[in-house]
Amino acid sequence: SLDKISTWGEENRPNEKEEGSEQTDGGGLSDKVSLYKGDITVLEVDAIVNAANSSLLGGGGVDGCIHKAAGSCLYDECHSLNGCETGKAKITSGYDLPAKYVIHTVGPVARGHVGPTETDDLTSCYQNSLRLMKEHDLSTVAFPCISTGIYGFPNEPAADIALKTVKSWIEENPDKITRVIFCVFLENDFAIYKKKMSEMFPDN
Ligand code: ADP
Repeated sequence: SLDKISTWGEENRPNEKEEGSEQTDGGGLSDKVSLYKGDITVLEVDAIVNAANSSLLGGGGVDGCIHKAAGSCLYDECHSLNGCETGKAKITSGYDLPAKYVIHTVGPVARGHVGPTETDDLTSCYQNSLRLMKEHDLSTVAFPCISTGIYGFPNEPAADIALKTVKSWIEENPDKITRVIFCVFLENDFAIYKKKMSEMFPDN
């Protein structure tokens, strides 16, 4: 459950819950981001993001896991959406998932290449997903590592884009979002995110 996922700042402040200690940066950026390793379909959040393909009709990887956990009503709703362009996002109900909504976004097919188009498209995935959250008044969201599986976007630059885009969004929309969970699935991504998050969301 969401309660079991500590925020980034919390992990880095082992003493904060000791008696007499004071929390000094409540409401800071690091309180709004978390790193979680595991299956995105178990997370009790307002929305989980799906790394979908342009048909929105399901596929392998995280997309397959989400459709399996959400049930066939998700497929039916997706079928009515007429697909989704690369970099764009569309929202559906979460059906049998603990998450209320699924935001389907289509990452770029990178096949190992990171040029301006791939970078812009992946940035748009995060921005358009966050925009949908804002439009639907949602406050907690979990992102998988979009495009880094079957679509072959290299992990390190993908993590950079994910973290920088989310950080800017939170800075520009400070009231809306209470928690963004970066849901990694692989040990390699966990290590990459852990390192980058300690640099980008330091204790203050
Ligand atoms: P894409 O087609 O956008 O590359 P993939 O689903 O192939 O999407 O991979 C995106 C990321 O999702 C990869 O890091 C993959 O390991 C991860 N992943 C696969 N299954 C799950 C899951 N159940 N929960 C979270 N992440 C997952």
